[in-house]
Amino acid sequence: MDPCKIWLDEIAALALQAVQQSGGTPELRKLRAARLLLRRDVEYRRLKEISASAWEYRDYMGRAANIFSAALTLLGDSAGIKKNSDSPVYCGAAPFDGKRSLDEIALELWAKLPFEIAESPTALDDIRANLQKQAETLEKVEPLELDENALFEQFCAAGIAENDAVMVHASLSSLGRVSGGAKSVIAALQRAIGQGGILAMPALSNVVDDALRQDFDPATTPIVDWIGVLPRTFRQMPGVLRSANPTHSVLAWGRDAGNFIFQRDPYDCFAPDGAWAKLRDRHGKILLIGENAIDSNTFLHACEAWYTPYMESVVVRVKNVGKVTEIHYPGGCRGNWYHLGREAEYFQKLEQDGVVRTAKVGNAAVTIFDAFELDGAMKRYLAADPALLLHDEDCGICAKLRSKIKQERLE
Ligand SMILES: [Zn+2]
Repeated sequence: MDPCKIWLDEIAALALQAVQQSGGTPELRKLRAARLLLRRDVEYRRLKEISASAWEYRDYMGRAANIFSAALTLLGDSAGIKKNSDSPVYCGAAPFDGKRSLDEIALELWAKLPFEIAESPTALDDIRANLQKQAETLEKVEPLELDENALFEQFCAAGIAENDAVMVHASLSSLGRVSGGAKSVIAALQRAIGQGGILAMPALSNVVDDALRQDFDPATTPIVDWIGVLPRTFRQMPGVLRSANPTHSVLAWGRDAGNFIFQRDPYDCFAPDGAWAKLRDRHGKILLIGENAIDSNTFLHACEAWYTPYMESVVVRVKNVGKVTEIHYPGGCRGNWYHLGREAEYFQKLEQDGVVRTAKVGNAAVTIFDAFELDGAMKRYLAADPALLLHDEDCGICAKLRSKIKQERLE
């Protein structure tokens, strides 16, 4: 027997079943209609496969279409699922391949759900709303591609100005697509501040826990991976200098870079005459690109070094020098700071006190501090509560640092 004929009977039974089961609320009828619409598309594709010729396909297709429309009409409120005209959001990423409307995608996903008698009347709406949200996010991300000129303009608009000293922590991916990558970001910042400014980035290196225990050499010691691609790229660029502190070296570019990174005691991570102090004294800016960068704000360790008694000492090996003791090393964990982003207690205080400035560069939320203002605020907070950045309880490492605070109070 003609496979198409069998198939047509199946269609009729399917449609009839959908109509017969369509009692209940309008929402349930809407769901049935959605299911049926989807089955229609599936069956049309199946028909194309089993048809012997294009003519046969057109013939059976016409009859199948009639059955489906009759059933959908009987389902009454089927107009709840208007294909294409309803919410035609097109996007470029899977499942938004740019070829299907939101409703088509919703219906396809709907079909993959197991068939339940007690289906939730809001299920399809939930799926749709969810997809709509995803599509909107993707739409925002997709079309934007930043180049150096756009970045330059946006950094200037965010307040980065000529002759500024800027310490940058960045999650490069948070910007969205950048033509030229890290180099474009660096070039845009260099243009914004000019030769009279200082562009700086932390260049942390793991010479403490490094299994190989390599001697620190600013020329060759690698920067830790987790710090991101920006400092690693910056380091290779012309005119960029690296300071001599083994664990917390700083990269700097600009006419005054040599002076900026110089400190008399290279083994004090946050020396009173070092880069972090100079950043503070010249009202330098701390530029945190992307939400993740908020947790990487090394300047807070400088404030800890200056205003709390709990920083540690570590022994490191330095090329041509040998073993040295580095002081003000920020070991351990910071339970009330790391991984908390804007939710951290200190950050909330800074926001209340109006110290936090925000801007948008590309897709990234950018946070900007005046280092002098940040220092002043942190100094006040840490005087009131030196353990502000530590875990409250249940952390042995933070307890050890807290005991140093207690000890100092007793002395
Ligand atoms: Zn802790």
